[in-house]
Amino acid sequence: MKSIFWFRNDLRISDHPALLRSVEESEALLPVYIFDDRQWAEDEWGMRKTGAFRTKFLIESVADLREALQDIGSELVVRRGKPEDILTELAEEYGCSRVYAQKEHTREELDVEEAVAQKVELKLIEGHTLFHPEDIPFAIDDIPDIFTQFRKACEKKSEVRIITSEPERIETIECEAGELPTVEDFGYDKPKLDPRAVLEFKGGAIAAWERLDHYFWNTKKLSWYKKTRNGLVGADYSSKFSPWLANGSISAREIYHEVKRYEGEHGSNQSTYWLIFELIWRDYFRYVAMKYGDRIFYRTGIKGEAPKWMQNQRIFERWAEGRTDEEFVNANMKELLQTGFMSNRGRQNVASYLVHDMGIDWRMGASFFEHYLLDHDPASNYGNWIYVSGVGNDPRENRKFNIKKQQSMYDGEGRFVKRWSNESLELDL
Ligand SMILES: Cc1cc2nc3c(=O)[nH]c(=O)nc-3n(C[C@H](O)[C@H](O)[C@H](O)COP(=O)(O)OP(=O)(O)OC[C@H]3O[C@@H](n4cnc5c(N)ncnc54)[C@H](O)[C@@H]3O)c2cc1C
Repeated sequence: MKSIFWFRNDLRISDHPALLRSVEESEALLPVYIFDDRQWAEDEWGMRKTGAFRTKFLIESVADLREALQDIGSELVVRRGKPEDILTELAEEYGCSRVYAQKEHTREELDVEEAVAQKVELKLIEGHTLFHPEDIPFAIDDIPDIFTQFRKACEKKSEVRIITSEPERIETIECEAGELPTVEDFGYDKPKLDPRAVLEFKGGAIAAWERLDHYFWNTKKLSWYKKTRNGLVGADYSSKFSPWLANGSISAREIYHEVKRYEGEHGSNQSTYWLIFELIWRDYFRYVAMKYGDRIFYRTGIKGEAPKWMQNQRIFERWAEGRTDEEFVNANMKELLQTGFMSNRGRQNVASYLVHDMGIDWRMGASFFEHYLLDHDPASNYGNWIYVSGVGNDPRENRKFNIKKQQSMYDGEGRFVKRWSNESLELDL
C-alpha cells in the first residue's frame, strides 16, 4: 500500500508514533506539509491568526524537517492551500490509498481532519501529550475539573511511554518537492531580532535539542528551574521549550525522558520534577479541550456563565500597544510585540489586567496572543485565558492579580520594566 504522511504540529521524525506506524504499514510513503492559508486569515476580531514571528519560526521548522527527511533518503513535499484539496489530489496522482497524521483536538484542526476524511481514508494517531490518552486513568468525559486531581492520578497510575524509534529509511514516492514559502509570501516583513529578546528562537528539531542541551547538560539550569521560573529577564529563567513543543519539533516525552536521564546523572530535586509538573499542565489543557470541545473558545468558557465584558476597541488597544496605566503590563506587552514571547508571569498579569481591571472580553486578548505568540497552541492559549478569566478550571473564585504587588515581587529592582520602557509601538496585524 502507498500512503501519504501529513505533517501538522508534529514537525520531527524522532519519537513520532504516527510517522513510524505509517512507515511500517506502507510500501512507499509521500511525506507532505501544507501551509493552510486559513491559518493566516483574519479571525472574528480582525486579527490575522498567525503573525510574523510564528510564520518565520514555522518556515524554519519545516525547512529543518525537510533536511531531516532528506538525511534518511526521503523528502518533504511542501504545498500551500487546503489540506483537504491537496491531499486528495496527491493521493489520486500517486496512487496513495491512505493518509496518516497525528491527531489534533481543537475546532479548526478537527474541521480540517473531517474535511480530509470525507475525501480520502485518514488514519489519525495520538502523539501530542506526555501521557497517552489510552494510558490516563480517566475516560475523557471524566477528566477532573481540578488540575491537581488530574496530575496526582496520572502520576500514580500512568506511565509516560518510551521513545519511539526514528525510521532509519523511508521508501519515498518520487514527487515534485515544492519550494518553501518565505515570510514575505504571507504579507509580512521578516521580523528583526530585538537585542532585548530572551532568546533568538530558531525553528526546527536541531535548534530544540540545542536548547535542551544548553538548559540541561551544559549549564545545568534545570536543577534551579523551580527557583527561577517566575523570572522575566534573560534566556535561562525557564526552559523556553514552548515554541518547539507547540509545533512538535520536540515531543513532551522526549523532554521527560531527558529529565529522567539528567536526574540519573546529576540527581533529582524539586526543580527537575517541576519541569515535568509544567508539562503535565500542558497535557491538562489538552485534555480539557478534549473533554469540553468548543466550549474553551466560548465567552462563558467551561463554566457556562460569565460577567458582561466589554468589546471596546479603544480600551483594548491601550492594552495591546502597552499604553495602560500599569508600567508592568506595558513592559510585558512590548516584549510580546517586539519578540513574540512573554514569560508565564507576564502572561498571567497582562491577561488578568485586561479582563479584571479593564473589563474587556478575554477572547480579544486570546486572539491577540494567538497572532503574536511564537508558541501559540490553541488548548494552552485558550485554556489559560479562560482559567485567568474565571470561566475555566480554577477552583478559586477570583483570579484578579494585584499588578503593583506582582511587579514589586517579580521586578522589584525594575530591571524588566526599564528594559522595555520608552518605546511606542505600532501593531503589525
Ligand atoms: C494567558 C496565557 C496564555 C498562554 N498561552 C500559551 C500558548 O499559547 N502556548 C503555550 O505553550 N503556553 C501558553 N501559556 C503557558 C505558559 O505561559 C508558557 O507555556 C510558558 O511561559 C512558556 O515558556 P517556557 O517554555 O520557558 O516554560 P517553562 O516554564 O520552561 O515550562 C516548560 C513547558 O511546560 C509547559 N507549560 C508551562 N506552563 C504552562 C501552562 N500554564 N499551560 C500550558 N503549558 C505550560 C510549556 O509547554 C512549557 O514549554 C499561556 C499562559 C497564559 C497565562
